[in-house]
Amino acid sequence: MTQEKPCRTCTDFKTWAKIQKKTFDSEKQTKEEKPSEAAAAVRKDCPLDKDELGSKTWAFLHTMAAYYPEKPTMDQQKDMSTFFYIFSKFYPCAPCAEDFQVQLKKTPPKTSSQSQLSQWLCILHNEVNRKIGKPEFDCKNVDQRWKDGWLDGSCDL
Ligand code: FAD
Repeated sequence: MTQEKPCRTCTDFKTWAKIQKKTFDSEKQTKEEKPSEAAAAVRKDCPLDKDELGSKTWAFLHTMAAYYPEKPTMDQQKDMSTFFYIFSKFYPCAPCAEDFQVQLKKTPPKTSSQSQLSQWLCILHNEVNRKIGKPEFDCKNVDQRWKDGWLDGSCDL
């Protein structure tokens, strides 16, 4: 029977490192051949784990929503909506993608303006935050976070 390949993008780095250690041990590799966990943690050019993939993807999605037109054409509205459905089919963390598809069914993309899209995405992100025990973000600050910078000017220095 073929064993399912462990999924790095569905796992946080610590869990991933444990799985890898077990694999090395079971293959009886010598100590010299094993890269240390510390070395792997310092490298910046390793494949993404679930959390890195997540935060980079959210950064892209929120920034895309922040720069979406305030008055989009019908085609732009349709394309943006299609983008999210297709994105949810290919997001490379299968359990995350499945949950996101369920969310999209419950709350379809709101593409009629930049503010609508940014608020919709903020609410969806908060659904994920709630599910995994992270603090909720105050959606009235979404443009400061992803477009304008904080009102106190701390992003302009
Ligand atoms: P992130 O949640 O990645 O947030 C990045 C930054 O966005 C934060 O620092 C904050 O400034 C800002 N932010 C936070 N909340 C909001 C918001 N509501 N609106 C606007 N900005 C906000 N992980 C799982 O364990 N299980 C899942 O099912 C899962 N599903 C995911 C589905 C998708 C579509 C994506 C993109 C990621 C998913 N993740 C999932 C990953 C998870 O959401 C986090 O990205 C990951 O845990 C890393 O969290 P983080 O602390 O770096 O902050």
